[in-house]
Amino acid sequence: MKEKEITRFTNCLILRDHKLIEDDLWVRDGKILNPQRVFFAERKNPTKVIDCGGNILSPGFIDLQINGAFGVDFSHDITDESSAEEVLHKVGQGILAHGVTSYCPTLVTSPPSVYHTVLPLICPRRGGKHGASILGVHLEGPFISKEKKGAHPLKHIRIPVKGFKSLKEVYGRGLENAMLITIAPELDGALDAIKDCVQQNIIVSVGHTTAELPEGEEAVRRGARLVTHMFNAMHSFHHRDPGLVGLLTSKKLDNKKVWYGIIADGVHTHPAALRIAYKTDFSSLVLVTDAICAMGFQDGKYQFGQQEIEVKGNEAYVAGTNTLTGSVATMHKSVLKFKKSARCSIAECLEAASLHPAEALGIANTKGNLAYGCDADLVLLNKESLDVISTWIAGEKVYEA
Ligand code: ZN
Repeated sequence: MKEKEITRFTNCLILRDHKLIEDDLWVRDGKILNPQRVFFAERKNPTKVIDCGGNILSPGFIDLQINGAFGVDFSHDITDESSAEEVLHKVGQGILAHGVTSYCPTLVTSPPSVYHTVLPLICPRRGGKHGASILGVHLEGPFISKEKKGAHPLKHIRIPVKGFKSLKEVYGRGLENAMLITIAPELDGALDAIKDCVQQNIIVSVGHTTAELPEGEEAVRRGARLVTHMFNAMHSFHHRDPGLVGLLTSKKLDNKKVWYGIIADGVHTHPAALRIAYKTDFSSLVLVTDAICAMGFQDGKYQFGQQEIEVKGNEAYVAGTNTLTGSVATMHKSVLKFKKSARCSIAECLEAASLHPAEALGIANTKGNLAYGCDADLVLLNKESLDVISTWIAGEKVYEA
């Protein structure tokens, strides 16, 4: 059998244990190696050396909420196998340039027919030059609050009266491709549905909700472990009635950690809100783009799920209204925006886009960090500007600026 090549990334600052440290990174067969073990036990040396020019080597970014990008929308533009291939290729490959190596294609509130068609066509798959790894689908809706629907179409919103059975009916057999479901815990049947989702290994995120804090906490006790885009599409914080925002302070509820997604595009959340989140519970903060088809595109009108939207500058609205829809910021831009707004360190803004989403999704043993044995999904960033220099999946270069 042919010897597997060992690659050594050298002259780099690598992100490990919450710090940027000067060290080499050894990779073989797509995984990060313990150099000492390889050198002393196997008496082997790297066969390939990559000089990183003193720049930063971060775990690749993970986006657990992205509705589409580069002119296509997962909920609207996937209709059959060939359009699915095309759409997933366009988005999956495009986001490599922004440092994203894994993602959860996200479907917004749609009629059951859409889920029945689209969901079975988005299977989890390994990334490579063809695009970032697909971890599983994020289903945002239709089991959400009508009052906090945001840009989701009212007429397709549903109540999970029969618990998990309602979910199965609406989503259909493609439900096995779902990794994450956003649900409003106050709806009839929602708490039972949450419990069953967790049993089926589907991660539950609470969001688009009018829930008060106790309802949110009950959802967490039932196994929910994420909050969808904190601050957006939920009650605003009030000192006597904190709403779901109060979960920021729950840290460990019955020993269960709660992570929260946050959109750091400079539009959905004020810099002060980002600072409040950062100072209150940084270790649970997960940057998400919530990007829509217009990400990477210019101003104009686009189709988002069942609705038409309009993009002006950095903002996207349901056409003809002032209802904010998803963002047009890339993950890389969000990382920079978050760093500036929260006034955090480079290591922190990178972990919010890599380690934290991996932990929230329960995959930190393989992704989101550069520990020995993890997947060699990497992004090389300029140490001054943090611009993306190159992106790597399983030790293979998949993008170069
Ligand atoms: Zn949303």
